[in-house]
Amino acid sequence: MSVNEKNYKTILEKTAAVKATLVAVSKIKPVSDIKALYNLGQRDFGENYVQELVEKAAVLPEDIRWHFIGHLQSNKVKYIAPFVHLIHGVDSEKLLFEIDKQAQKNERVIDCLLQVHIAQEATKFGFDEEEARIFISGIQGYQQSGSLKHVRIRGLMGMASFTDDTHQLIREFEALSLLYKNLRSGNVNIDILSMGMSGDYELALRYGSTMVRVGSLLFGARV
Ligand SMILES: *Cc1c(COP(=O)(O)O)cnc(C)c1O
Repeated sequence: MSVNEKNYKTILEKTAAVKATLVAVSKIKPVSDIKALYNLGQRDFGENYVQELVEKAAVLPEDIRWHFIGHLQSNKVKYIAPFVHLIHGVDSEKLLFEIDKQAQKNERVIDCLLQVHIAQEATKFGFDEEEARIFISGIQGYQQSGSLKHVRIRGLMGMASFTDDTHQLIREFEALSLLYKNLRSGNVNIDILSMGMSGDYELALRYGSTMVRVGSLLFGARV
């Protein structure tokens, strides 16, 4: 099997020590790899592409919690709405309203995270901190007036810069962590801070991550 069991045990220990959740990122990897990790007890898996997720979910055990971690287009929400566990990358009001609509059709509430742009790279999706604050209070307003009843904002998601510069990574994780804490202390009911990938998950955990998304350390490099 091409799953790194030793890395899996290590990452599980480190996440368990701070009660964080490990999402195993299985994008591009075959169903057999997912099954191998599933057989070691892993239940949270993350995928980036709608079609790939739908195909995998159809043939894998029903008790897998599927996380959608990629950039989600509104017109594709309907395909994952029946079963997705958590959508990490909400980055627009249009997308959130579409998730709400599809969740309602499926008679469920879908948990979502807002994507916050913390990296220096200009290409990544997401809100800046001020936009995130405004967005969240806007959503609270909608929900108080009875709409958006089929989505629940559970927290924030961020991707740090692709760099070896530890100081920069720390600055980015600290900024997101501070925003998360400030929102929580200002009566926003959220409990998930999704940050940290293969290269930086330990640092992310040190700075308050409650959910790491790890792919290549578990499944090997993607080509
Ligand atoms: C691919 C991906 C990951 C996992 O990356 P690794 O470096 O392989 O651990 C995590 N988060 C997102 C959003 C991704 O697209």
